[in-house]
Amino acid sequence: MEPPSGPPPSPVAGPPGQPAAEPAGEVSSGSKRIALFGDIHANLEALEAVLADAEEQGCNDYICLGDVVGYNADPGACLEKVRAMNCPVVKGNHDEDASGNHSLESMNPVAATALEWTREHLTEEQRTWLRRLRMVRQIEDFTVVHSTLDQPSNWNYVTNRFDAMSNFSYQFTQVCFHGHTHVPRVYVKDGKVQEVPAESVAIEPGSKYFINVGSVGQPRDGDWRGCYAIYDLEHKLVVFRRIEYDIETTQRKIREADLPPMLAERLADGR
Ligand code: ZN
Repeated sequence: MEPPSGPPPSPVAGPPGQPAAEPAGEVSSGSKRIALFGDIHANLEALEAVLADAEEQGCNDYICLGDVVGYNADPGACLEKVRAMNCPVVKGNHDEDASGNHSLESMNPVAATALEWTREHLTEEQRTWLRRLRMVRQIEDFTVVHSTLDQPSNWNYVTNRFDAMSNFSYQFTQVCFHGHTHVPRVYVKDGKVQEVPAESVAIEPGSKYFINVGSVGQPRDGDWRGCYAIYDLEHKLVVFRRIEYDIETTQRKIREADLPPMLAERLADGR
């Protein structure tokens, strides 16, 4: 195991002036197989399918990488499911937007329409839970964040190795998991930074890893199936999983909720 090369990141990086206390969530000590899942985006069928698979795969701990809500039609049910797991959760940009009252005018109109709808379909108490989520968590010897470690609240998108380089400058653990682009990707820093296929990744001493676990509820890599990753701490191995779910039900709920129909269509395309 590579020793940390700098100070650990602050465990709390919430908005200034807000209480640091969060619905905490822990992983058990001696944990061996951790399921990392995020960008659920109110897709209950995908979330349930992913969690069932993780259990079948022997996962004994869970970490949520944010964007529990937004886009799809089951924000409250997904939030309650994740909250009941009492696992670590970091805040995503849709969690922030759904829990605030600020204008959404600058956003893409479809996302904004869905967020307005989401605001109306969450209770104040649920919105408070989202608002109080932390931006960054260090768990065991790795870090989790929704977007990137350099300025997590800027919600930067990492789509190439140059974007990943900025993150690595702020990554003081060997491994960091994130989400946000809805595309599973793996960047390795060992002298230089390169992207390697998001398949099975062996965590080797001397290298650093910045790993996007993909999206449970709205994948954008052309594969409609829900995506998450399992980190096997004992074998130092990260494995990606793709899980089929009842997409017709998810699409029907989106249409019945009068959300923009393209949100249902894009699910089938994985875009
Ligand atoms: Zn997202």
